[in-house]
This record gives sequence, C-alpha cells and structure tokens, in this order.
Amino acid sequence: MPGTNLTREEARTRAALLHVDAYEIELDLSSAREGGTFRSTTVVRFTAAETGAATFIDLVAPAVTEIVLNGRALPLENFADSRIALPDLAAENELRVVADCAYTNTGEGLHRFVDPADGETYLYTQFEVPDARRVFANFEQPDLKAAFAFTVTAPAGWVVVSNSPTPEPTGEGDTRVWTFEPTPRMSTYITALIAGPYVGVFDSYDNGAQHVPFGVYCRPSLREFLDADAIFAVTRQGFDYFQEKFDFPYPFAKYDQLFVPEFNAGAMENAGAVTFRDQYVFRSKVTDASYEARAATILHELAHMWFGDLVTMEWWNDLWLNESFATFAEVVCQAEAPGSKWPHSWTTFANQMKTWAYRQDQLPSTHPIMAEINDLEDVQVNFDGITYAKGASVLKQLVAYVGQDAFFQGVRAYFKRHAWGNTRLADLLGALEEASGRDLRTWSEAWLETAGINVLRPALEVAEDGTISSFAVLQEAPALPAGARGEAVLRPHRIAVGLYELVDGSLVRTERIELDVDGARTEVPQLTGRARPAVLLLNDDDLSYAKVRLDADSLAVVTEHLGDFADSLPRALCWASAWDMTRDGELATRDYLSLALSGLRRESDIGVVQSVQRQVKLALDVYADPAWRETGLQRWAAAAETALREAPAGSDHQLAWARTLAAVARTDGQLDLLAGLLDGTETVEGLAVDTELRWTLLVRLAATGRADEAAIEAELVRDNTSSGQEHAATCRAARPTAEAKAAAWASVVDSDALTNYVQEAVIAGFQQADQRELINGYAEKYFASVKQVWETRSHEISQQIIGGLYPSYAVSQSTLDATDAWLASADPAPALRRQVIEARAGVERALKAQSADR
Ligand SMILES: [Zn+2]
Repeated sequence: MPGTNLTREEARTRAALLHVDAYEIELDLSSAREGGTFRSTTVVRFTAAETGAATFIDLVAPAVTEIVLNGRALPLENFADSRIALPDLAAENELRVVADCAYTNTGEGLHRFVDPADGETYLYTQFEVPDARRVFANFEQPDLKAAFAFTVTAPAGWVVVSNSPTPEPTGEGDTRVWTFEPTPRMSTYITALIAGPYVGVFDSYDNGAQHVPFGVYCRPSLREFLDADAIFAVTRQGFDYFQEKFDFPYPFAKYDQLFVPEFNAGAMENAGAVTFRDQYVFRSKVTDASYEARAATILHELAHMWFGDLVTMEWWNDLWLNESFATFAEVVCQAEAPGSKWPHSWTTFANQMKTWAYRQDQLPSTHPIMAEINDLEDVQVNFDGITYAKGASVLKQLVAYVGQDAFFQGVRAYFKRHAWGNTRLADLLGALEEASGRDLRTWSEAWLETAGINVLRPALEVAEDGTISSFAVLQEAPALPAGARGEAVLRPHRIAVGLYELVDGSLVRTERIELDVDGARTEVPQLTGRARPAVLLLNDDDLSYAKVRLDADSLAVVTEHLGDFADSLPRALCWASAWDMTRDGELATRDYLSLALSGLRRESDIGVVQSVQRQVKLALDVYADPAWRETGLQRWAAAAETALREAPAGSDHQLAWARTLAAVARTDGQLDLLAGLLDGTETVEGLAVDTELRWTLLVRLAATGRADEAAIEAELVRDNTSSGQEHAATCRAARPTAEAKAAAWASVVDSDALTNYVQEAVIAGFQQADQRELINGYAEKYFASVKQVWETRSHEISQQIIGGLYPSYAVSQSTLDATDAWLASADPAPALRRQVIEARAGVERALKAQSADR
C-alpha cells in the first residue's frame, strides 16, 4: 500500500529527535449511526533535541482541515502520503491537527458495525500495528510513549470505554461528552476506544490493599450467552499468578474485557481495555477445547499488561518476544495456577502451537525468529507461526535451559528496571544471565538468529539378551527450503528422554532422563545395560523444539498403542510426529487414516481429537492419491457416522464427530441424516442441534446441492444475527453451481463492499474440496487480479483474499507453473510475494505427499 509505510530508519531518527509528553484527543462520534467520517482533533506537546529540525506526524484520513504548529498555521498541503510534514521545530512544541477520519469495515482503525439483531451501531478500535493514525494524528512507533487524554462525544445512552476508567458523561440532548483522565505513558498501538450500546457486567479483584475494578462487555444480542463469572474466574486466577510471579502490581487503574464484533485477531492487549473476538461468547454448545482456548486468550492478554504494555519493545523486530512471552505465560499459568481447569495445557501447546510452528518453519518464507523488520510492511506479514508459535516454543526451551525459578527471577528484575520504558531483547537476556549465571549469547545465536527445525533421532543398539548396549541422540541440521533465509545449524537442546512400558494395557512412563544434547551425536551412557523399554521417546515433556523420530521397535508399539499412553502429552507428541511424517511424505495418507481410526477411539483429550479430525480431512483432500481419495473419504465419513452414534450422549466427542460428519458426508444416507437432523425428523440421543450446528449441517447440504436459496433464507430468518448472515454467505458461496461461484468471486474480488467477516465467510464457502471442477478454473482469474487486490485493499482484507482464493485444491504441476510465471512477470512487492510463495508451497508439498500415497 503506497504511501502508508514507515521504515525503521525513519522511526530511529524521529525517536532520537523527539520526546513526546502528552496528547489531548477529541473525537466527535455523533455521526456514528450514519457512518462516513468523524471529526478528530489532536493536540500534542513534544520537545525536540534540535531546534529548527523537521519531522513528521502520522495520519491516515480523508481530509485535514487544520494544522497549527506553535501557533502558526501550516499549509494543508503538508499532509501527503499519510504524513504531515512539520518543519522548523522549537525546543518545546505544541501541534494541533483537525481531521476528518473514516470509520472502517475491515477491523482496522475505528471499526463500525451495525447489528442486524437490533439495528444499533457498535464501534471499537484496533490499532496494532500502525492504525491509531486512522483515528488521530500521532507519532506511530512503539518507543514514542506519551500520556493520552481522550474526550469523546457520542450518542446519549451509549457506553464508552477507553484505557482510563469511564467518567460520568456530561451534556444534554442527543449526545454526551466523556472526558477521560490521561493514561500513564504508553505506546500509541495499545490505546483504545470502544463505544456503542454495549452492555457490561462488573466485578473486581480485591487483594488486601489492592482493588482493581473488572468489567466484561458485549452487545445486548449476545448478553444471554455471556458467562461473565467464568471469565472473571480465569481473570482472577491470572491476577494472582502473574502478580506473584512478576512481583509487580497490575499497572493500570482498571481491567475491562470487551467482546466485539468482526474482530480480526483473537484479542488485543489494549492497556486496561482488552478487546476479544465475540465468537468467544458461545451462543451454541462448544467443546471444552473452546473454553480452554478462551481462557488461554484471557491469560495471554493479561500477561501483556506487564510484558508489552508496561515494558514495550523499542521496535517491531522484537514483536516475537512480546508474543512469545505472553504465550508462554498463558500456558504456564494454566498448567500451574491453583484451581486451574486446564492443567494439561502443555498438551494443548504441543498439539497446536508446536504444529503451527513446525508447519511455518518449513515454508520457503521461513526466517530466523529475530527477523529483519525494516518497515511496517515487514511486520504486518510477520504475525506468523514463527513469531507466535516457534518463539514460544523456543522460550519454553530457554526456561528449561536456565531453570524456571531463575527465569522468573530474571523477569522480576526486568520489570522493575524497565517499567514504563522500552527495551530490546538484550535487556531481557541480560536479566536472565544475571539470574541464572548461564551465558546466553551462544544459545541466542543458535536459536534466534537461525531458521529451521533440527531432527533428533535415536541411535540404539540392543544386545542379544535385550539390554541396551549403547544409546545416543543424533541431531541433524534443518533441511531449509530453497531460498529460505538463515543458516542451517545444530543447536544446544535441553531434552528429556522417556522410557515407557506396557502395564495392564497402558503405556506408562517408568523413567525420565533429562540431558543436554549438543552437536551431531550425544551419548547417553545412563541407559547402557538396561532392558530395552517398549517405547523410547525423545523430547518427552516437549521441552525442546525439534522433529523427533522413533526407533523401529518403538514406532511399531506406538502405531498399535497410540491411544494407550496413560498421559496426554506423550500421546500428543506421537500424534504430532505421525502428522509431521504424513506432511513430509514419510507416512502414506492411507496409513495416517488407519492410525487415526484406531487411535482416536481411545483419545480422551478433546483438543487433540479435534486437531486430528481436521488433519485427516486436510490429508484426504490434498495429500491423498487422487485415484484413492474417494475411497479414503468414504472410510472417514463412515467412521465419523459410527463414532457419532457411539459417543456418549451429550459429550464433547459426540459434538466433534457430528461436525466431522457434516464436513465430509457424501452418501445419500449420510446426507439424509444431516437433513433429518436439521428438520428434526432424525435425532441422535444427547446431540443438541443448536444454532451453530444447524449452520454447519446446512453448509454441507448447500455444497452438495441439497439445500437451495429458500432453505438458506429460511435459516437466516431463524437466526437473523450477524453470525447468521456470515453463515448464510458461506452457504450461498458453497452451492455447486457455476453461477454461485461466479457471484461469490465477484463479491470478493470485484467489489470492496463486504466486511472483513462476510468476506471471510464467502471465501470459505467458495473453496470446497469436492468442487474442483467448478473452482479450479479460477486460477487464471486469481493471477490476473491478485496484484490489484494487494494494491487497492487494506492489509487484512488483501491477506484474506491472497491466501484464501489461491487455487490450493488444484494440486498439479500446472498450478506451480502458473504461480512461477506470475512471480516472474508481476514483480510483486516482498510482502505480496511472500504470501503467494507460501500458498504455492502447500501445493508443492501436496504433490509430494500424493506420490508417497500412491
Ligand atoms: Zn499477544
């Protein structure tokens, strides 16, 4: 997007020149119900290290009507390319900017949403990375912290929430004015404003001397589903745990959590005013995995109040550390906090975060965790599996390396030393070195400045009498994809080796050895002379970040007994290993399906069950030999139907199998069952066919030509909500006709009228694995339009289209060739190129896996 970038060099220069004291920001949102634009007035006071120097302030707005610097009006032409040029600075400056800013429908800046359930308008801001400038003029970089005082004019009767506690509004007539107290010094990207007829539920955290007011908000149409007590309970657990571990009191005046519509991410750590996607207010039955994920998100954002908000990265190259710390903190809190409902959180971490990280780290776009972030475009595509998931995995490894007590000791010193300031990675590592006495420079180089995944393999020799005569851990350098940045190196790994035996049908750990692996071969003399166990598991407890392979005998036991591990974590590690081998073409899709069919019968962890179900579907859709694919899909669908009927009534497993069947149903009998569940002529005991499940069934019926426009419209009448509209959009785009596909395509590519959520829903409906003959022809159109999409749409919107509409189901050499031809001729910007290359890698991998399945 030309004209909206900011380079690191520019940010450095500006930070060296300026010290920002305070902002006063007046926003007139009395136009909110009509939309369009709103009046934004910023007064900012700042000092300059050099008088006479020039700088600029950031603003993305349709119009600027006034620029006054130190009492002198500047020409409005100073506003160009999303900046206002500020010449001839004094030592102390006061700048006033008046602008007309725009409401958005993309989830960036000030998002405006009208709820079909009540016709009311709801607003919220989302500013990370550089979108506060869409709402008020500011110096948009994390190390120019300041105090922010917001004054907001909005319709009477509205609820207005920001970082500071909500004041009593003043005024009369149709509007009111809320005058907020200034915030503590903070970065622009964590300021926030949420406004509309939201409803709130209130509580507080009280701990002797400390009183922190709590609020939880959502739209009135979701109020009946808001389980505020459960949300408060997790929040309180986090307050107890983090305040003790960080030895630093919660730094803001209150803690509000707001569930808002059409939110792009999971949540955002605005200081004291955290926003969440409102699918986290569950309006239909969900499995325990969803409650666990919501609790994890709540704890993640809370951890950011210290790590990120109180102490903030100087520049976006340390985004990974910000996110990894919050992710680590969320999991360790769930694992250890007294009364936690999810003490198995490291299983979920292995199952989800690790899988994401391993996937991302094998893409051609992989990069060292410490990425070069030269400008804003770099950071916007870097909210990836390296930043969140590999970073958190490596942080877990760092904690194993220095020890958890030393880790938190270092963290405590870090918060005290840098409170309200900005830091670099070296500040944290320095504090950890002091606390642990371990030199982290070598560790940091090997883990943070290189890319890829090491492979750990056991080298096992067993004597005739069945005892181990030698055992070593072999380490391989990462196989980096062609063109990937970074060097392939061996790394120091702190790992555990688990020894498992079959006891009464269960695989039970009988011994655990923890050791440092370094170099290509690490001997483990402790095991010499012992009887060979049934299973030898490397990287047990998932301390390190590595692909792990099993020796042949252990693999045979695991293949037969995967479901029999007594603990969920080794099961998750073995599931992950099998999936990894399938993706790598080392295990045929049909064998992975067999493993899943036998192992899932005994898998109790619902999060793992749901992951494996998704992975099986993906494998069948793109990794299976096309000649066998339909056979595999039929086996999977039949197994899902059986499992649905056999699962305990009302259980999470039952719901998960119902969704799985809905995704794959193909015989007349299966589709009749879906239709019968929907119209009530069929029932499965204990299965609640509620609002969300109804839509899940209807999507499949629409995609298979068994539900027409009238059926979709009738369902929308039953569920006339924004979620209902999104599901209806998916159903319409999923219909198996050329007209439906053309309409879906045009609504996304040729028009920008759809909101972020409806667009996502249309893309999901368009891309149906069973409709290859209808959709594969769009590859040509894709390449003809993708560059223009990138250049004309916002970041979030274009990212959805570029990844979402790529011909991923056209697994063929010609798709690769078409992609390569486009890459060669279109000369795409690096961030666009990266997204297309990642999509291409999926097809390349699928081709390889298909030949392994043949
Ligand atoms: Zn985060």
